[in-house]
Amino acid sequence: MATERTIEGAGVPVGEEAFLGLLDVVLLAVLIAGAAFYFLRSRKKEEEPARSYSIQPTTVCTTSATDNSFIKKLKASGRSLVVFYGSQTGTGEEFAGRLAKEGIRYRLKGMVADPEECDMEELLQLKDITNSLAVFCLATYGEGDPTDNAMEFYEWITNGDVDLTGLNYAVFGLGNKTYEHYNKVAIYVDKRLEELGANRVFELGLGDDDANIEDDFITWKDRFWPAVCDHFGIEGGGEEVLIRQYRLLEQPDVQPDRIYTGEIARLHSLQNQRPPFDAKNPFLAPIKVNRELHKGGDRSCMHIELGIDGSKMRYDTGDHVAMYPVNDKSLVEKLGQLCNADLDTVFSLINTDTDSSKKHPFPCPTTYRTALTHYLEITAIPRTHILKELAEYCSDDNEKELLRNMASISPEGKEQYQSWIQDACRNVVHILEDIRSCRPPIDHVCELLPRLQPRYYSISSSAKLHPTNVHVTAVLVEYNTSTGRTNKGVATTFLKNRKPVSDEIKVPVFIRKSQFRLPTKPETPIIMVGPGTGLAPFRGFIQERQFLRDEGKTVGESILYFGCRKRSEDFIYETELEEWVKKGTLTLKAAFSRDQAKKVYVQHLLEQDADLIWKVIGENKGHFYICGDAKNMAVDVRNILVKVLSTRGNMTEADAVQYIKKMEAQKRYSADVWS
Ligand code: NAP
Repeated sequence: MATERTIEGAGVPVGEEAFLGLLDVVLLAVLIAGAAFYFLRSRKKEEEPARSYSIQPTTVCTTSATDNSFIKKLKASGRSLVVFYGSQTGTGEEFAGRLAKEGIRYRLKGMVADPEECDMEELLQLKDITNSLAVFCLATYGEGDPTDNAMEFYEWITNGDVDLTGLNYAVFGLGNKTYEHYNKVAIYVDKRLEELGANRVFELGLGDDDANIEDDFITWKDRFWPAVCDHFGIEGGGEEVLIRQYRLLEQPDVQPDRIYTGEIARLHSLQNQRPPFDAKNPFLAPIKVNRELHKGGDRSCMHIELGIDGSKMRYDTGDHVAMYPVNDKSLVEKLGQLCNADLDTVFSLINTDTDSSKKHPFPCPTTYRTALTHYLEITAIPRTHILKELAEYCSDDNEKELLRNMASISPEGKEQYQSWIQDACRNVVHILEDIRSCRPPIDHVCELLPRLQPRYYSISSSAKLHPTNVHVTAVLVEYNTSTGRTNKGVATTFLKNRKPVSDEIKVPVFIRKSQFRLPTKPETPIIMVGPGTGLAPFRGFIQERQFLRDEGKTVGESILYFGCRKRSEDFIYETELEEWVKKGTLTLKAAFSRDQAKKVYVQHLLEQDADLIWKVIGENKGHFYICGDAKNMAVDVRNILVKVLSTRGNMTEADAVQYIKKMEAQKRYSADVWS
């Protein structure tokens, strides 16, 4: 968001005006402006080196802000609808795009806008455009935070005291009920815009990614448009027309060195590596180690070490590493065959909306093979709008009807989408295999599929012990579906096949800072709860505490609650953990869920250790950490903690909940959980 800096307030005190002539005032103003300019410029320069490892927005697009006036763009192209998005993984942006595209049906020509690239103070002027409407598709991220690209807008409406009277708006939130701060950002923005005088045209919509966010979105959208038409007195929507957002340009003659081969943004950035490294400019890290951690059973868990020497990237214990995976070769080939495509064709997709700052959906020109391998999420479960567009390419009427039905909001359609697509985990390749008459052109498939996102892992090493290596602990994702297929996780399959024969095997990575930190004072005792791969960041914590002890520092008690299925199969890092126990650095409590008839989980051990937990947390003001599955384990563990605090700390349940909230605020309770 662009804000203009003025030197107002730095001027001359009113009472002293009489002592200064006009020329003095002008000279003084020039001097102050010069000083302010110099100060701001030098401060900006000072800040720049820190960016070498700062975390950039993770939604990757190749856009650049050319003109941050969205009002100018709306006016110049006769539009009245602007859909802003706050998106970390691309879904918010996708929803915004769908809404903007649909506007035309209701005579509200729309555009999508990234708040980070806009001067959001222009919202004050939106009312000057007839039938204008601002929609916000906002994701909530982390501990109830706005996404990186919506941060500045969020702060502006939070702190600013602007009058937004006359601004028509609606908000749709993207969240996940597994997390405590469900849709916090959208709920706040919806309320705050009203407080600032804006006019809510339709009620807040909340999408739950733990259930079916697509369903939530299309259901909300279905009531949103009639409400909008009602508000503006627009009579009836036109027929739904499917419009392509991008046009295809085949470029057989383009110079080979102008063709993108998997770069995230800058051409040749993978061959010609230049720091600072971040989400748009990842570092090609060599895989130094890739070994199996499981000793038995039918699953695989990998211990991977990535070299970051020479990258100028640094990490802190508890941070995350992000990796850009590539899709499975055979799946790419299959998709090419199903679309009758020559995967080596060089092409560009060019936005038909010339006002959009996003010229291409991914780096272009490129080949279909590169696009399907590096840029597109081909194993994701397609959303309904993709099915709707694919339906147009069915020569068989029954198959066309099936796809259309699944994309509709009828109860039967939704049910069918749930069972045929979601429960059966059918991706676009499976759909084209099973709907045999559907043969879309490959370029349209490339337009429809979401952008391949980086995958995040909790770093499982200590930065103090391994400053130039990042360790990752990852379970291979692989499962059978009801259609008899085996679905494989993109990133873990990609990693599984990359054994370090030399430094040749490299992965594009960047570091993302986290809030998951050891206590500042090493003497502070800690309790860590991390079953399965939830152990990852704690391995880093314990390494760090051992390192400090080796340096002669006094280190507080470190208690780990770990859980796995069987001691003999998936007790990962067993030898290391036992070594730390022997050295007196670690107290280990392990729950082997399947080693006896009745399941034993980490929370059962916590419950048995109520006195110990109270001593560490209540009496010695220790820190409590959870890492792993958000949906069940983390909820159960938190509930056990409430129980322990209320029984041992003599609190009511409500007080115990408050106690944990206070611990959270003091950074004494932290969770690094996923769902
Ligand atoms: P795991 O091997 O599946 O589980 C570790 C241990 O936790 C097992 O003993 C398991 O017991 C137990 N467990 C199961 N339900 C529990 C509960 N409600 N409370 C406490 N313990 C419980 O662990 P994992 O492979 O590391 O995966 C953990 C979870 O996170 C899985 O759901 C996995 O799909 C998910 N995961 C997600 C990501 C991601 O990035 N999205 C990455 C890795 C893992 P039983 O199996 O015997 O019941």
